[in-house]
Amino acid sequence: MENETPYYEDKSKVYDIIKYPDRISGRCDDCGEAKFSSRIEDRKLVRKCKKCGLQKSI
Ligand SMILES: [Zn+2]
Repeated sequence: MENETPYYEDKSKVYDIIKYPDRISGRCDDCGEAKFSSRIEDRKLVRKCKKCGLQKSI
């Protein structure tokens, strides 16, 4: 993990899952948490990690 590029630095940003696919499906890519809250934004489902706050549109 240490040598990987930290491309999720900005937790206020919504990352597109097409460009940033999950390494492990259904798990937060940043911290590995499996619990999320979700909301609709711009007709897309935004999934937010309950632990670190990482957001992805799926
Ligand atoms: Zn997380």
